[in-house]
Amino acid sequence: MGEIFFEIKGVRKRFGAVEALRNVDLTVRRGEVHALVGENGAGKSTLMKILSGAYQPDAGVITAAGQPYRVASPTEARAHGVAMIYQELNLAPHLTVAENITLGIEQTRFGFVREQRDRMRAALEMLGHAELSLDARVGELNIGTQQLVEIARALVSDARLVIMDEPTSSLSASDTEALFRVVARLTEAGVAVIYISHFLEEVKRIAQSYTVLRDGESVATGRLAAVSLREIIEKMVGRKLTEMFPRTPHTMGAPLLRVQHLRGHGSPRDVSFDLRRGEILGLAGLVGSGRSETVRALFGLEPARDGAVFLADGKPLRVRALRPRLALGAGLDLLCENRKDEGLATLLPIRANITLSSLSQLSTGGFLHGKQECRVAEDACRRLSVRCRDVEQEAVALSGGNQQKVALARILHHDSDILFLDEPTRGIDVGSKAEICQLIGRLAQQGKAIIMVSSYLPELLGVCDTLAVMHRGTLSSVLPVAEWTEESILLYATAGRMPNADEA
Ligand code: ADP
Ligand code: MG
Repeated sequence: MGEIFFEIKGVRKRFGAVEALRNVDLTVRRGEVHALVGENGAGKSTLMKILSGAYQPDAGVITAAGQPYRVASPTEARAHGVAMIYQELNLAPHLTVAENITLGIEQTRFGFVREQRDRMRAALEMLGHAELSLDARVGELNIGTQQLVEIARALVSDARLVIMDEPTSSLSASDTEALFRVVARLTEAGVAVIYISHFLEEVKRIAQSYTVLRDGESVATGRLAAVSLREIIEKMVGRKLTEMFPRTPHTMGAPLLRVQHLRGHGSPRDVSFDLRRGEILGLAGLVGSGRSETVRALFGLEPARDGAVFLADGKPLRVRALRPRLALGAGLDLLCENRKDEGLATLLPIRANITLSSLSQLSTGGFLHGKQECRVAEDACRRLSVRCRDVEQEAVALSGGNQQKVALARILHHDSDILFLDEPTRGIDVGSKAEICQLIGRLAQQGKAIIMVSSYLPELLGVCDTLAVMHRGTLSSVLPVAEWTEESILLYATAGRMPNADEA
């Protein structure tokens, strides 16, 4: 075991009425990956923002290499060798890779521009992406590559402690593997890593020690080799997990949506399916296979080129003329994958986010019934157990899982019959995942027709009635979920073919 590097004792932090951290101890050693796990709202990000200088603790002691550690800003934290890779990336999309890497780093740390660029290239090479151009505009890169830019920024600033908050929640499998290799190299070089993730299998693989936060308190810590995933989950939720994906019994009825040969401008290339009342249809596939593009095209967020779409009464929807307003009016709704950019108006209060798409229900003659709006929002927060101060709080202040619940609350309030849920549980903890899956089951029970896009196979297999897999823009046939296995899903996702009868 390496020597103790960071030691946190009795840290507390309050935001108004919310006590985000009540009593937290955490010890990180040099050269190790320390996993920080806990449900949504447990306080993980707040604790890390204290280490990275974004927040000041109200109480407690932090030492780094035996010296008191007090930093007033992220820049100061960087100067102490602490770098944070944020959950929702924090890059300037209109700037280049090089400009983003140097953002917020004292220029005096570098010599000439030439040396700067050499160091950036060395960092990208270490990350296995030497091919990435320093002059590429960050907004044009995909999410996985954008994250590499953030990590390169940490490397270039000589970080001794790198904090990764949910680093793999938007990465493809191969980018995730690449990240694990990078983490291994960082620790070999004596760097300490604090790793926040909801993927506990992943945590088991790359971390050596762990701390569990629950309701702002550290409730367990130790070596990962000595503990089972089940035990960790039980510490996280503070109760015994009976079933990860409790099913709500529901039956399927008549088709509500019929899609034939839908084609977009890139993806989708050929998508056909029927979706029935009370059906949860899972869309599996690799990141980039066209699942999001499909539901976005059906909602009118991305242009469709061709194909036929019919609603329950056989009424055709003109795919090329689809726009979100029309789709909403026709009884469709979409929960976007990227809630920060599209799912939420993060600067508006929770209340406004929930009622945003159905204000007409709450107004007469152009006047909004404010009290009623508040009541609606408060009810929704209670039903979904959103952890917030009150409904006037800005959505941006909520943790990821709570933001997702608010985005879902908007959809519930709008009450469309056909729901497209794109990665509804991405980046949120086990407990909230189970809650959201249960909610999806209840919606099906009410007779809604649901498409659920997810990259987490156990969840798709646990929640859905039927499932189809996308491969390069083309959708497999829809089969009852029991006829799929993780292996057959992966075979279609990676190779575009079904296991044939004699192989099966
Ligand atoms: P986690 O990262 O474990 O999901 P967070 O640290 O984001 O949890 O949140 C812990 C608690 O503190 C939550 O209840 C959250 O709503 C609250 N919180 C976090 N940041 C703020 C803030 N800036 N203002 C008010 N409340 C906050
Ligand atoms: Mg967080």
